[in-house]
Amino acid sequence: MSDCLFCKIVKKEIPCDLVLESENYLAFKDIDPKAPIHILVIPKKHFEDITELSFQDLDLTAGLMEMVSKVAQSENLEKGFRVVLNTGPDAGQSVQHVHAHVLGGRSLTWPPG
Ligand code: 5GP
Ligand code: ZN
Repeated sequence: MSDCLFCKIVKKEIPCDLVLESENYLAFKDIDPKAPIHILVIPKKHFEDITELSFQDLDLTAGLMEMVSKVAQSENLEKGFRVVLNTGPDAGQSVQHVHAHVLGGRSLTWPPG
């Protein structure tokens, strides 16, 4: 996906504030944070959203959740955190490369907007 923003981050064509990297995943700080800690976790391979990812590769889906937990642990989010996967236009997905938002560092209200 040559025109995908997050694929360009994976290929290091666009810089990011890296938090964690593994063979198949990247975790980096959101450029417009909505909480004191706001990190995006993505598979390096391009999938449009969580539906496409989970239907095509359950192992990679499980690994994404493991990476989320590793990020929460490395950021000392033991008091709690929220994982968000905006999917499709009604959820406001703005980058069409599946990404989990990890939000924490403050009390988070519910329900979200
Ligand atoms: P979505 O709205 O698709 O759920 O989330 C996309 C997220 O990507 C947004 O929170 C937005 O701030 C973040 N974002 C957009 N462009 C960039 C960028 O170039 N670098 C980083 N680190 N985050 C970005
Ligand atoms: Zn992509």
